[in-house]
Amino acid sequence: MTTEELRNSILSAPKNGYTRLTDEQRSEMEAYALRYRAFMDACKTEREATAWATEMAEKHGFVPAVPGMEVKPGDKIYMNNRGKSFLIAVIGKESLAQGANICAAHVDSPRMDVKPQPLYEDSEIAYFKTHYYGGIKKYQWTCVPLAIHGVVCKKDGTSVTVTIGEDENDPIVMVSDLLIHLAADQMKKGASEVIAGEQLNVILGTEPIQGEGADLVKLNVMKLLNEKYGIVEDDFRSAELTIVPAGKCREVGLDRSLLGAYGHDDRVCAYAELEPIFNLEMPTHTAVCILADKEEIGSVGISGMQSQAFEYFMEILCDGQGVKLSHCFANSFCLSADVSNAYDPNFPETCDRRNNSALNYGISICKYTGSRGKGGASDASAEAMLHVRKTFEDNGVMWQIATLGKVDQGGGGTVAAYMANRNIVTVDAGVPVLNMHAPMELVSKLDCYMTMLGCKAIYLA
Ligand code: MN
Ligand code: MN
Repeated sequence: MTTEELRNSILSAPKNGYTRLTDEQRSEMEAYALRYRAFMDACKTEREATAWATEMAEKHGFVPAVPGMEVKPGDKIYMNNRGKSFLIAVIGKESLAQGANICAAHVDSPRMDVKPQPLYEDSEIAYFKTHYYGGIKKYQWTCVPLAIHGVVCKKDGTSVTVTIGEDENDPIVMVSDLLIHLAADQMKKGASEVIAGEQLNVILGTEPIQGEGADLVKLNVMKLLNEKYGIVEDDFRSAELTIVPAGKCREVGLDRSLLGAYGHDDRVCAYAELEPIFNLEMPTHTAVCILADKEEIGSVGISGMQSQAFEYFMEILCDGQGVKLSHCFANSFCLSADVSNAYDPNFPETCDRRNNSALNYGISICKYTGSRGKGGASDASAEAMLHVRKTFEDNGVMWQIATLGKVDQGGGGTVAAYMANRNIVTVDAGVPVLNMHAPMELVSKLDCYMTMLGCKAIYLA
């Protein structure tokens, strides 16, 4: 055996995915990217993603989960959890006692939420007060075009959906930053203090209404909202309005190999696991897809992955087959589909290059997340890693390894730990992202496409 043959037979040699992509895969990848972009343009919040998924599920013949329902192989069932999270299943040939193949992603993304008493006027400028949601570099959210998305529940019991800033004829809103000319003191501050949380105030208008009295600009803004949505100031107290970057998912780079959008984390994995389940017909094991909320603030709350809403859905399926939920969980597998950090040569000192995911190498499998000695990670077993590795390789899914940054640099978490706590074997895997949690994040089309193929392979495993 030559040295070269020996090298090829026992050493791993990762190659850029483009060197391995067939012409057919390339055109499928481009078509997939178009469909993903349409999803991203329609869904910027967990509510919008849940509504979109519900509508698509019904179009594909899925029916709502109802306690006591009969559950047979091939049945297609979903649950819209209070408009904020979404669960969907295709029942397999095998009993649910043999477990389910689950893909879990989240559809909430970092942003600025409008406070319950948000509207005020200062120096004849009207603003919304906000409280940021999830981990953001606050300075990144100034001076960029922003939109208002959400729902307002009115006293008469009706509710109204708000979207301002996405149509090209809409106005946008914005948070201001200090001009460089007067920023001598600001520029000396640490980046986390350059813009304070209470400075994330969103400019809504400057024109005073004609008349006498105080706050004529605020009154004018409220009048505009009242005319368009029929809401009054008190209604903000029963509302969920959120400020997100305005604009669409765009191709990035002269070769168009990247996609830039707000909230790839984690709708890029949510879409990758959602699309294939719509067209599944009678898999061996029951396939389950979860679009969770609240991951960015700890998977808490009734729509977060720690919520019993997941048990409620799975119990309806199990009851329909006379199976104990705990038996189903014990035999289930979950791919916690969430993004990783793509290696960024601008910041090499933050990563272990040998264990970091890279753009265009495919879906990245992450054995453990966490921080300071894997704290908070579910840390998948060798056996679980092999299951995913083998499933991907047997199905031609390009994959790579991910760890989140170098040891002791920082860290993060996903829903994986909460799935593993339920006695479900769980592994993290997802799309590598550049500038995660920024108003515009970057992913590669190739990695998006491979992640979709990976989720599909898990459902069929
Ligand atoms: Mn995420
Ligand atoms: Mn995140």
